[in-house]
Amino acid sequence: MVPLRELAALAEELAEEAVVVVDEAYGEYAEQRSAIALLEERPNVVVLRTLSKAHGLAGARIGIGLAHPDLAAVLRRVQAPYPVPAPVAAMGLSALGPEALAATRRRVQQTLRLRDTAGRRLRDVPGVRAVYASDANFLLVRSDDPDALLHTLASAGIVVRDLRHQPGLHDALRITVGTADEMTALDTALRENLA
Ligand SMILES: *Cc1c(COP(=O)(O)O)cnc(C)c1O
Repeated sequence: MVPLRELAALAEELAEEAVVVVDEAYGEYAEQRSAIALLEERPNVVVLRTLSKAHGLAGARIGIGLAHPDLAAVLRRVQAPYPVPAPVAAMGLSALGPEALAATRRRVQQTLRLRDTAGRRLRDVPGVRAVYASDANFLLVRSDDPDALLHTLASAGIVVRDLRHQPGLHDALRITVGTADEMTALDTALRENLA
């Protein structure tokens, strides 16, 4: 996470030069307040949120951009006509209604609990060197033997993201927090590996 005060400082520094776009795709899982708090004072900040992650609407392909009204007016002028299909807009609005939002919050809370449990579990796995603190719905794991870890998980039918081709991450996997059942399967696979 980039701390809000650093974002505010960056936006101030770039005030007459550039727009600072803050991507909050995983914001629902983070502790820090949204950068929406900066919008009032910093008209060159744009905040992007998506309904693809915590809201579970990836198939609807819809998100939200929050910006100063003047900037929003410019963006509207360069938009293609009918940028959001009406049924998709309706889906988006219903996902933001009070009941759907309450359900999303409960799901996020469960994901955070499962993330903490999985993080503790993974730190005990021999060869795991780091499980980074996460502000998202996934964990970044460094291992002395990522091949073995990948193999153990794959044999249990668990697919994780291999990040070893990324710069600085030659030993890293990314494990997304799934359902309670999926996380139990992860736990079982790790336990059998240790046994
Ligand atoms: C998922 C994601 C988004 C948003 O994706 P859409 O499905 O196109 O709304 C943006 N940034 C990051 C880093 C993401 O992981």
